[in-house]
Amino acid sequence: MLAEPAAVTKKAVVAWKTDGLTGVVAVLDERFSAKTYQSSAKAARGSGLDLYYWIEVGRDPNLAEEHPEWMASLGMHTDWLKRFPHAKTPGAGEVAKAFPWVSINYREAFNAHLARIDRLLRRVPPGYRGILVNDLQGGPASCGCGNLQCRWATDYHVPATAMKFEADDAAARFVAAVQAKVGSKEVIPVWATECDKEDLPKEKRAGEWTTGYSGTVGCAVGSCPKVFTQQFTALTRTHRGNVGILALHRELGRVFPKYGAATGWIGHTLEYLDRTLPDNGGQAMPHERLWLVVQGYDVSHEEEKAARQSAARTGVGAVIVARARIDQSFEPRIVPVKK
Ligand SMILES: [Zn+2]
Ligand SMILES: [Zn+2]
Repeated sequence: MLAEPAAVTKKAVVAWKTDGLTGVVAVLDERFSAKTYQSSAKAARGSGLDLYYWIEVGRDPNLAEEHPEWMASLGMHTDWLKRFPHAKTPGAGEVAKAFPWVSINYREAFNAHLARIDRLLRRVPPGYRGILVNDLQGGPASCGCGNLQCRWATDYHVPATAMKFEADDAAARFVAAVQAKVGSKEVIPVWATECDKEDLPKEKRAGEWTTGYSGTVGCAVGSCPKVFTQQFTALTRTHRGNVGILALHRELGRVFPKYGAATGWIGHTLEYLDRTLPDNGGQAMPHERLWLVVQGYDVSHEEEKAARQSAARTGVGAVIVARARIDQSFEPRIVPVKK
């Protein structure tokens, strides 16, 4: 169960245990005090449930306000403008950014995120099992297509506004650095799958349905799966432990009749990995090493249950039910490019 720490009470934990849950993942951020973390840790441990912390890395409103130049860019494609009809097209000497996404793919942001994790870990008592670090890829709509699950690119044919890493291993190095901070505790990077064929523009679908999410961009059969594979492979080559996968069907806008039931898309995340990694020169990821994160907020009790069941059917190592929001949205901001 993923929840805000204030919701991790003795009573709640007993109910979760009765419901078959085996662990608690408490959101770790600046909004909650050390005292709140102390009482939630006590409640979790008292019931014998494993305790983990969830740190949102890539989407950081504080850092984005403080350093707009560290934000992830919306790439050269302008299809994202259709999602934001009131937004302005960036002019000369400007670049559009995905507020409040501050990806680790800029050196400055990478270091700032690590320093923040140091500060956050000081808030929690030591007896936890591991930490989950979310959104270690690029920002959404990274090529400019507008798709929330287009995370592969950094400054796609637009000027950089900070020091960008050229290699695909920023997440791998980030996870290693976090691991060094927590010693033998488990570190679980959490990943989003990239755009898929049903996101392609209509004319590339041969009469099949489309979500329209990639606008006019044909990235699902272009760079996305290739770079996704390179980045995921760089991560899993050095990180031998578990990896989380975001399967938030409503948050990511994945409720369509063509997926079947409201929760029908959840299994597609695994199917995407099973197909994309081997097809692009990578290695299939054993499902036992994957932790699937499903949406338990802004859904009915029945829908949460259906989400848990469809996740469990995929044979993953663990299912995390998110009752705290894992916001994946963005809004465009224009940032000047300094010479
Ligand atoms: Zn894209
Ligand atoms: Zn794409």
